[in-house]
Amino acid sequence: MTKTIVWFRQDLRLGDNPALSNACNNGEIIPLFILDETDRELGGASKWWLHHSLLALSDSLGGLVIRRGDPLGILQGLINETKADGVYWNRGYEPHIVKRDTEIKSTLSNDGFDIQSFNGSVVREPWEIETGAGGPYKVYTPFWKANLAKGIPEPVLKPSIKLAKIDGLGETLGDWNLLPTNPDWAKDWKDLWTPGEAGAIKRLDEFLQDDIKGYGELRNRPDLPNISRLSPHIHFGEVSPRQVCKNAYARKSEMPDYTKDIDKFVAEVGWRDFANHLLFHFPKIPIKNWKPAFDDYPWRESAQDLTAWQKGMTGYPMVDAGMRELWHTGYMHNRIRMLVGSFLVKHLQLHWSHGEAWFWDTLLDADLANNTTSWQWISGSGADAAPYFRIFNPISQGPKFDPDGNYIRKWCPELSGLPNTLIHRPHEATQMELKAAGIELGITYPHPIVDHKQARITALAGYEAVKSAQAAKSA
Ligand SMILES: Cc1cc2nc3c(=O)[nH]c(=O)nc-3n(C[C@H](O)[C@H](O)[C@H](O)COP(=O)(O)OP(=O)(O)OC[C@H]3O[C@@H](n4cnc5c(N)ncnc54)[C@H](O)[C@@H]3O)c2cc1C
Repeated sequence: MTKTIVWFRQDLRLGDNPALSNACNNGEIIPLFILDETDRELGGASKWWLHHSLLALSDSLGGLVIRRGDPLGILQGLINETKADGVYWNRGYEPHIVKRDTEIKSTLSNDGFDIQSFNGSVVREPWEIETGAGGPYKVYTPFWKANLAKGIPEPVLKPSIKLAKIDGLGETLGDWNLLPTNPDWAKDWKDLWTPGEAGAIKRLDEFLQDDIKGYGELRNRPDLPNISRLSPHIHFGEVSPRQVCKNAYARKSEMPDYTKDIDKFVAEVGWRDFANHLLFHFPKIPIKNWKPAFDDYPWRESAQDLTAWQKGMTGYPMVDAGMRELWHTGYMHNRIRMLVGSFLVKHLQLHWSHGEAWFWDTLLDADLANNTTSWQWISGSGADAAPYFRIFNPISQGPKFDPDGNYIRKWCPELSGLPNTLIHRPHEATQMELKAAGIELGITYPHPIVDHKQARITALAGYEAVKSAQAAKSA
């Protein structure tokens, strides 16, 4: 009987998994996961998720071979040991993955093995969507319009699986030490998240049942539950973007009043496709400003300010609440990601790579395409980016998106005693008001580490420097 190795990567699921389904059509399968950290070590939060997701995948498959190291050597070894006929996988679009997979495909195909790859990770692959002139899109709206015009392809069904004999072939997950110990900073995460395909489908169903109602507006409110929180599930491929979009569209007939919310949600999933499209066509995005003019921005270095930002001790409650939500849950609301990002690059004038690296380590959904394109978007240096002069006001965003101060009270409990009028601006409270709320600024909660108005002026001056340098170069 034909035996195919199914190389699981960021597609840790059985449903809508074209590599798995096609391999199962051939005969027996040998499911394999390789921990390959040659390009970049996984962040701490990602390791936690991966550990639990691999356990879930192994449970639903009835077994999984796991190995660490160089994928080509591992595949060659496993083919040899199992007498497998081929290897199937779902494609990835990160630069090192594209290069690695191309080499593996060519080597193993030349050796006569059946090597096939599929799309299991995006609605449409980066080369499927082209501008009229034949190049990649650099602006999201026409990109997503072109994508939708082609329609969302149907997900493939979960196959019936015949597992080859795989006992004793793999390493032991516990030996990988993916979970934190001493201290176990993730000890509460099992109550917040359920990694694995079943958890992903359950969360998708729950979200489409109720929380999607009003998503178009309410997705901006970090104090409300109207977002899917599917991002780690989608990043690890426990549910595919096609499944997410198709299931969302299927709800339209049952709740026609919420059609706009459903379309908005699907369009957000489209941003993920756009990020992969950009990363595939512009593979330097993770390491270089997409707009080179930003190389001339007068970035500061300040370990002290960076630490204050990471710890949620900037003296701006919305920023601090976001950074603490991230540390305690491995997640941060999108509206707050934009705010804390803007604060880092514009108020503190620290380079976006510092923020990207912190997010990489602490986000459960840390994703090279989404993270680096979003940081460049925030900085103004990216494709279809927020204009540099759009500087989020860390004070006024508070009453706008957290009008009752609930988000602040949850993550900055030391400010709980302040009335809603002051909770987003404790530094403007009088001594009497602070005393009544049990707050001593500088002791129980920090003074602002930068003055908002002054920071805005300095950030804009930096942008003028970029423009002058650009003008001088083109003169
Ligand atoms: C500075 C910064 C860094 C970010 N880093 C990441 C990251 O590492 N990984 C990540 O998945 N997202 C990242 N995002 C995008 C976005 O914040 C998250 O995808 C979103 O908050 C996840 O929450 P959700 O699943 O409830 O989203 P929902 O609003 O429910 O959206 C559904 C899905 O659409 C996708 N999506 C939504 N918004 C975006 C977006 N702006 N860009 C790309 N995809 C999107 C995600 O897969 C998400 O799960 C970042 C945004 C910013 C501003």
